[in-house]
Amino acid sequence: MSSKEGTYQIPADTGFSKEVWFSDDPSNQNRTEYFTEYLKQLCLASGYSEEEAAKAAEQTIRIMKLLAENSLSLEDSMNPELIYNFYTPAELEELSSKAIPARMLQEIFELETDETLVVIDVKLTEALGSLMTEEQLPALKEYVKLCAIRDNVLYIDMESYKAAMDYQLKAMGLEENMPFEEQVVEIVQYVLGFQCGRLYCWQYFPEVTIGEVGEIVKLVTEAFGKRISELDWMSEETKAEAEKKLETMTVRIGYPDNWPQDRYELMLAAPEEGGIYVDNILAAARASMEYTMETRHDPVDKTLWPDTPQTVNAYYMPQDNSINLLAGILMPPFYDPEASEEENLGSIGTVIAHEITHAFDTSGSQFDENGNLRDWWTPEDKAQFQRLAEEVADYYDAMEIDGRKVNGSQTVTENIADLGAVACITQIAAEKGYDLKSVYEAYANLWASKCREEYLADQIAADVHAPEKIRTNAPLSAQQDFRDLYGITNGDGMYHEMMPKIW
Ligand SMILES: [Zn+2]
Repeated sequence: MSSKEGTYQIPADTGFSKEVWFSDDPSNQNRTEYFTEYLKQLCLASGYSEEEAAKAAEQTIRIMKLLAENSLSLEDSMNPELIYNFYTPAELEELSSKAIPARMLQEIFELETDETLVVIDVKLTEALGSLMTEEQLPALKEYVKLCAIRDNVLYIDMESYKAAMDYQLKAMGLEENMPFEEQVVEIVQYVLGFQCGRLYCWQYFPEVTIGEVGEIVKLVTEAFGKRISELDWMSEETKAEAEKKLETMTVRIGYPDNWPQDRYELMLAAPEEGGIYVDNILAAARASMEYTMETRHDPVDKTLWPDTPQTVNAYYMPQDNSINLLAGILMPPFYDPEASEEENLGSIGTVIAHEITHAFDTSGSQFDENGNLRDWWTPEDKAQFQRLAEEVADYYDAMEIDGRKVNGSQTVTENIADLGAVACITQIAAEKGYDLKSVYEAYANLWASKCREEYLADQIAADVHAPEKIRTNAPLSAQQDFRDLYGITNGDGMYHEMMPKIW
């Protein structure tokens, strides 16, 4: 229920997703080898001998791979039907063969015996339980220890930090890492998220942006509503539900009205009081966690934002049917008050349309206007939607970048959102008489990027977004207006037989 908070059991650490562990891409295979070496270096940093370190790393890798093998695929992890599994502490204890004892949940987190938890990955939790034998105990201890070190590796000691940086360089094919000072700033802004966010917004985020971006949201929402009403594959009955969902969508822009740090006290110690970096980070994490646990039975507070305003991101939240445009993304190249209407439509307009379309992708469409899992589709419309979604998957399956194939099913939710977004801004541009070329160019500029092979291999295996170049080309190629504008014909690089369209 969207009116109640949920407590989630976070799945056990698998190191990498199964898509990376079992990838046949040499670049990903190298990465898992560097990772083994990295774990060994962490053990050495914590005082193990060479032999002990090699053994602990090997044991941990074995456990992680076993867990990953039994985990949800990335595609399945986007399916609400598979990830919302409700268990009481006692049931979770049984599912995990006592790996997660109910007594521990009650003592540490004060969970009630009849309280339910959302278990995101059931099979993975079962697999964790399969390791609960006397024989596996020494290996499990190394696994737990190494997971804890990795979680905190950037601030526990310089030797571990250096091991993490060395691994990062090799795994991502980089020539240099972010300087230490910048890394520290990054961590502090993350740990003190909303405290830093408030300062950031005071300093860099003009209040007037909220209203300006709000106007673009209105424009896009209206166009999207019109597109729904004109769909030829959807019945009036389902359209009415879709329109209701669109009309009641919550829009959050910039920063929250209420700052969460005002609700609980954060006790940090200055250096002169004997405070040290790692203790302060852990204290902040603990305070936030305790606050979350203490307030978990309170009615859902919609003024609280899950992400900090300085984050460069926008997202759709199906659980409360909201689009969220954080202050961090409301600056160039995404939004520029100095830019033309065309340019802002092509950039932030597409982002907004993308987030709105997420309410109607293969995952978001399973939630209703209140954020509850409810099937609001007629069976015929649903079947038709699924068929169209398969076309989208097929279209992207045919896409290749630097010899690597895109996974159409894994990226289907994002691709539906990209296609819907570009179709929507194309319509707005036509209605407004905008110069379509500058709209499309602004869109393409959003995704201008350069990356190394190692990054691309990882992205293809482990991301639900297609690589940036595909995110630019594929939705544009699917627009007749784009073809007409640039005179694209059969044989051109951006010509494709298929032109999938859902929204
Ligand atoms: Zn998205």
